Amino acid sequence: MIDYNEYKERKRFYNSKAWEDVRTYVLKRDNYECCWCKTEGKVTTKGLEVDHIQELQDKPDLKLEPDNLRVLCKACHNKRHKRFQYGRDQFKPRENKWEDEKW
Ligand SMILES: [Zn+2]
Repeated sequence: MIDYNEYKERKRFYNSKAWEDVRTYVLKRDNYECCWCKTEGKVTTKGLEVDHIQELQDKPDLKLEPDNLRVLCKACHNKRHKRFQYGRDQFKPRENKWEDEKW
């Protein structure tokens, strides 16, 4: 099984034709606007990104499932992934799993 905790695997996925196709589909479906901004009554159509609701690393089976995808603008996307912005482990949320767990 592909390990999407690996940066190179994620990069490979995000460069794939399959992702490009589903991404385009989701952008169209969501009318090219940020769905979080929309709930606040704002229309944001710039800097859009397609977000995995259940993350790639957690649910690789859902990586191309439109129901698991939504459109967020860059600002909202950053808010969502805030927890990965601390320190240099930002792309390795799981690597220290066993060391971090104190039973
Ligand atoms: Zn937004």
